[in-house]
Amino acid sequence: MDYSSKAQTEEMASLVETWLGNPATRKVLSKVVAGSDGMQRMERILKSYGWDTEDDLGLKDRIVGKTVRSIIGQVANKTGITEDDIKSNMKVGYWRKGLVSTLAGIGLWGPQKPFTSYAPFLVVWNSTNACNLHCRHCYQSAISRPTPDELNTAERVKVVDRLADEGVAYISLSGGEPLMRNDFFEVAARICQRDMGLALATNGTMLTAARAKRLADLGCSFVQISLDGTRQTHDNFRGLDGAFDKTLEGIKNAVDAGLNTEVAMTVTSQNLDEVSEVIDITESLGAGTFMHYNFIPAGRGKEIMNKDLSPQQRESLLEELATEGERRNINVLSTAPQFSRVCMGGRHSISSLTHFDSIGQNKQLADKVEFLAEFVGGCGAGRLYCGLQPNGDIIPCVFLPKTLANIRYNNLVDVWQNSDFLAKMRQRNSFKGQCSECAYLKVCGGCRARAFGYFNDVQGPDPGCIRNAASWDELEKKIEHDSVHPL
Ligand code: SF4
Ligand code: SF4
Repeated sequence: MDYSSKAQTEEMASLVETWLGNPATRKVLSKVVAGSDGMQRMERILKSYGWDTEDDLGLKDRIVGKTVRSIIGQVANKTGITEDDIKSNMKVGYWRKGLVSTLAGIGLWGPQKPFTSYAPFLVVWNSTNACNLHCRHCYQSAISRPTPDELNTAERVKVVDRLADEGVAYISLSGGEPLMRNDFFEVAARICQRDMGLALATNGTMLTAARAKRLADLGCSFVQISLDGTRQTHDNFRGLDGAFDKTLEGIKNAVDAGLNTEVAMTVTSQNLDEVSEVIDITESLGAGTFMHYNFIPAGRGKEIMNKDLSPQQRESLLEELATEGERRNINVLSTAPQFSRVCMGGRHSISSLTHFDSIGQNKQLADKVEFLAEFVGGCGAGRLYCGLQPNGDIIPCVFLPKTLANIRYNNLVDVWQNSDFLAKMRQRNSFKGQCSECAYLKVCGGCRARAFGYFNDVQGPDPGCIRNAASWDELEKKIEHDSVHPL
């Protein structure tokens, strides 16, 4: 980033901070969301903004609506995003819910860096433990059939309704293999009916052309399909001969149905040299995004910790991905939160605010959105997103299986706002290793699931980062001393 754009970025960050920190703004926002229908009320106000009408609003809401319009107008003015763009986004349910949760989060907690939303923006729902494959690195340790404790169909539909009422913007159905559930489309349809965004994370082998079309007709906004290498490597990882061809067919079906398609690759030392080929495959099949999935020692992944990348290998990989992102016509993203640091280090023209940030991949917008990096904050677990298990257990991230409560008996927003474990995850100054000293603490924060998986300490260092290489070395020594050899 050159000096003038850096100065502009800093000016914008300080303006947003001042404006968000304004006690009057916070007071209005916290008042609007107070009360049992606060979130729905704010949503009505934003809907009326999107459609340019105040017909459905009472007098009080019209007054609040004016404040909200003025806030949005100021941000639009400074970022170069047009108000018309924002208005058209406000016509889409999940955008609206996302903005409500942002504004309400500021009302509740103030403009923290990084920021915590009022309710999770995104819930990734491991909707079943069943899978037709047997992957070596499966974080869910999936098996061939559903476990008896899984929520039944009526409970699942009820969960969707509750999440919608509590302000969740987006649900991603994952697994196991979500298409193994007979009620998959019933639940998916309910998510769309309730105006939330729907995504699917699948191994692709069951994604027929008919199913892909059905998903597109429902309004599914995103499909993620796992591909771990070229034919032999993928089949070996996935535990099934022929999985590679079926997965490629699934990707083609998704692309042909017009679905926004991402290819996800979990990278270990076994497939590190195939990353570029998988990006080639992603591009050639017409998928819009390649996503590097950081290896995390969870589930069956614990059995192959010795295949994790060293910090040096990961750093080179992230540099390679940033370069690929600059030269390719597709998005190239990573779930390693250190990707933000690598992109911002001055060597690259793209940025990465979080795992799902595709705006930062646009070289024209990358500088303009970088001021948001400290608000968005890299690892979003327990701040912007959480996971849900097949039996309804609420967890901070699908890779961090610490049970916080169960959705059958607890209100998600109560857990989100009052869990001590999540509070610890949000206290970045208490993180260990180099993380708390790091200039990139706010934009990255390290992967909390890796800290938990390796050290059983959610505030521990992420040993995958080059700046925490000493923690990685210690880990190797400890394991050697204990005569265990997972590394
Ligand atoms: S030291 Fe921690 S906060 Fe800094 S870049 Fe590495 S993982 Fe992120
Ligand atoms: S803990 Fe954070 S960085 Fe790690 S996988 Fe979960 S959301 Fe991503």
